[in-house]
Amino acid sequence: MTARRRVAVLGATGAVGQAFIRLLARHPWFELAELAASERSIGKRYGDAARWLGGELPADIAAMPVLPCDPAVLRSELVFSALDSSIAGDVETTFARAGCTVVSNAKNHRMDADVPLVIAEVNPEHMSLLDVQRTARAWKGAIVTNGNCSTIALVSAVAPLHRAFGIRRMVVVTMQALSGAGYPGVPSLDALGNVVPFIRDEEEKIEEETRKFLGTVDGSHVREANVIVAAQANRVPVENGHTICVSMELEQRATAADARDALRAWRGAEAARGLPTSPERPVIVRDEDDRPQPRRDVDAGNGMSTVVGRVREDPVLGLRLVALAHNVVRGAAGAAIQNAELLVASGRLGAP
Ligand code: NAP
Repeated sequence: MTARRRVAVLGATGAVGQAFIRLLARHPWFELAELAASERSIGKRYGDAARWLGGELPADIAAMPVLPCDPAVLRSELVFSALDSSIAGDVETTFARAGCTVVSNAKNHRMDADVPLVIAEVNPEHMSLLDVQRTARAWKGAIVTNGNCSTIALVSAVAPLHRAFGIRRMVVVTMQALSGAGYPGVPSLDALGNVVPFIRDEEEKIEEETRKFLGTVDGSHVREANVIVAAQANRVPVENGHTICVSMELEQRATAADARDALRAWRGAEAARGLPTSPERPVIVRDEDDRPQPRRDVDAGNGMSTVVGRVREDPVLGLRLVALAHNVVRGAAGAAIQNAELLVASGRLGAP
C-alpha cells in the first residue's frame, strides 16, 4: 500500500482524540490530515486548543488548525469520531450523509440495527451490515462503531471462551480508570483515594453491547447472543486501564486449565491478523497470582492486548477470571483505527 489515505479526527482535543493523534502520527496507511473540535477550539492552533497529556507534542501537530466538525469544511473521506456523545449522533449522521466513512467511539449509533459494532478479532463479519445500512439510509457514506471501553475489555477476554464452550451468563465487576471519563473528567477530590460505585449508563452498555458483539449476522440484522450479563461499574484512581472481574456459567463444562488453553490458543479472527494495529496476541494469559495490574500490564501489545489472569474455578457460576485492557487504546482509539484498517483490507473503502 503506497498512498496513505487522508483522515480526520473529530473531537481531536479530548482524551480519545489525543490517543488518535498519537497512534495515527506513525500510521503506515493513514495520514493525519485534519483535526476538528468544538466552538471552544475552532480557529486555534491545536497546540493552544488541547491540554496535551502525552509528553512532547510534535511541532507539526501543534501547528495544525482546529477545524469545525462540518463535512462542508473537512476534505477527508475517512473520519474518526472521538466526539462527546451529546453531539456525536447528529454530527456522525451528517458526515455519513455527505459520503464520509465515520468510525466512531461514541455510544450514539452502536445499537442501531444496521450499524456494525465491531472488535476486529471477534466479529469482523458484522461489517456486512454496511450493505444493509447503505441501502436503508440511501447514503454513500457509512457509520461503523467500536464499543464502550469496558465492554471491549470484557468481550475481548471472554470471546475465546464463548466460541469454545458457550457462555450462558456472567457477573461482571469493573474497576475503571480515570481517563475513561475524558478530560478533565472526574474532580480530583472525588477521584483521589476513593472508589465511586457508579458510572452513568455504563452497566447498561456492558450488558447490551456484549450481546451484540457476540451475536451472529442474520440477514439484515444481528441476532444477539443469548448471554445474560449483570454488570457493576466502579471508578477507581488509576490513570489508564480498566480491570474487570468476571464470573461465568458455561454451556459446556470446562476446567480452569481448559479455559486457559482456549485463551492461550486464541489468535482472533483471520481478517484481523496482520493489520498494522493488531497485536500479535489479542489475549495474553498470565499465571502469576497478582496479575494483571494496570501499572504493569496496560501497555501490553502496544496497548492493544487484553491481559487475563486469575483464571480459576468459581464455586457459584463455574469459572472466573480477571481481565485488563487499555481503555483509551484497546477500548477506544486503537480499536477504531483497527476497524478502519479492516475496512481498507477488505476492500470496503475503495481507492483513496
Ligand atoms: P473528552 O475528553 O471529554 O473529549 C470530548 C471531545 O469532544 C473534545 O475534543 C471536545 O472538543 C469535543 N466536543 C465537545 N462538544 C462538542 C461540540 N458541541 N462540537 C464539537 N466537538 C465537541 O471525551 P473522551 O473521553 O475523549 O471521549 C470521546 C468519546 O469517546 C465519547 O463519546 C466517549 O464516550 C467515548 N469513549 C471514551 C473512552 C475513554 O476511555 N475515554 C473509551 C471509549 C469511548 P473541545 O475540546 O473543543 O471542547
